[in-house]
Amino acid sequence: MAAYGGPVFDMAVKQFEVIADYLCIQQDARARLLMPKRAVTVSCPIHRDDGTTAVFEGYRVQHHLTLGPTKGGTRFAASVDLGEVAALAIWMSWKCALVGLPYGGAKGGINVEPSSLSKRELEALSRRYMQEMIPFVGPHTDVMAPDMGTNEQIMAWFMDTYSMYQGQTVTEIVTGKPVSAGGTLGRREATGRGVAHLVRRAADELKMRLSGATAVVQGFGNVGSIAALELHNMGVKVIAVSDHTGALYRPAGLDIPELVKYAGSRVSLDGYSNGLILDSAEMLTLPCDVLIPAAVERVIDAKIAGNLRCRILAEGANGPTTPEADRILEKRQREIFLIPDILCNSGGVVVSYFEWVQDLQRLFWEEEEVMRREYQLLDRAFERVLARSRRDKVFNRTGAMAIGVERVRDAKDTRGLFP
Ligand code: GLU
Repeated sequence: MAAYGGPVFDMAVKQFEVIADYLCIQQDARARLLMPKRAVTVSCPIHRDDGTTAVFEGYRVQHHLTLGPTKGGTRFAASVDLGEVAALAIWMSWKCALVGLPYGGAKGGINVEPSSLSKRELEALSRRYMQEMIPFVGPHTDVMAPDMGTNEQIMAWFMDTYSMYQGQTVTEIVTGKPVSAGGTLGRREATGRGVAHLVRRAADELKMRLSGATAVVQGFGNVGSIAALELHNMGVKVIAVSDHTGALYRPAGLDIPELVKYAGSRVSLDGYSNGLILDSAEMLTLPCDVLIPAAVERVIDAKIAGNLRCRILAEGANGPTTPEADRILEKRQREIFLIPDILCNSGGVVVSYFEWVQDLQRLFWEEEEVMRREYQLLDRAFERVLARSRRDKVFNRTGAMAIGVERVRDAKDTRGLFP
């Protein structure tokens, strides 16, 4: 797969090989499952506020369209490259299949630090990116959503740009939109709520009381902040949180509602002082009951995995744990209960699916209905993963990924090869 490369892509390949071996998938069938169907690279020129022209590189990778349109977020970050986007698209496929959504995986992104742009520049870049993507996306081909560095406003600009070209409003082209522009109630909170809900399920399994338990949350964006708030509301003491500007630690528990308000108004935790400042890596190895990495990929390497002191590891981020770390965590599975990323953070895409369905039907649900259905799908997936991992005595990641990979493999086998 010469088009793709880099450490994140290598990680997705290594993870897949472990699962393909476990499922005894023939060598010649593996590339068909793993190789992305399409990858697009576009250049997005915009006028900067100072009158100069800047060009940003954008990507979209669609992993497979076997089960329906592809689905996945759009990331605006300085780290974005084709390999990372391809890996994230592949993970979206296993995630959608695991929770039973009629989608393949996709991911897109622009190599840009969004905070370096003014609001006008960000709008110009978002619109140009969507305009460049028009030949490749559609409500029945590929449906975008938010990811790191993007938000509801950007989804509204995407939807508006696509719609202006179609000559009609096509809300179902993206999910994660504001409710005022065809979004669903409960999408903004969906990923963080899902993480907290699954932590509660894991705690029940372990017969662990959440009230008074401690949690550490890495990343305080849409996923980390809502997960922290939900856990706080369940009586959990959140003792440390971090974002790219630093990490705060307060053994007696941080004031999460206040921190959420603070980070919301300033877009980061920078300058907040009511806690000890920690090194972000050091934070991961603090003794705690629940550890939630909700930032970027590959933060838990082999060394950190050996030093983790949590009881539940709930992966809010995509790909936070390296395959080398996995080998260590597999040996420590009696000590540390893993909620693997494709299960743990799947509440986001589950509610994106509900948004797409509501947009297609022009029929909108109450927030309680959205939440009830989200938890129902998450519960079903959680139980399936547990049953599979226990039956075959495998690591929770293996159980979860196997269910996802198997579903895609079965669909491809049944449909056959065209022509
Ligand atoms: N970006 C999110 C993820 O990684 C959500 C994708 C979506 O809602 O389509 O799962």
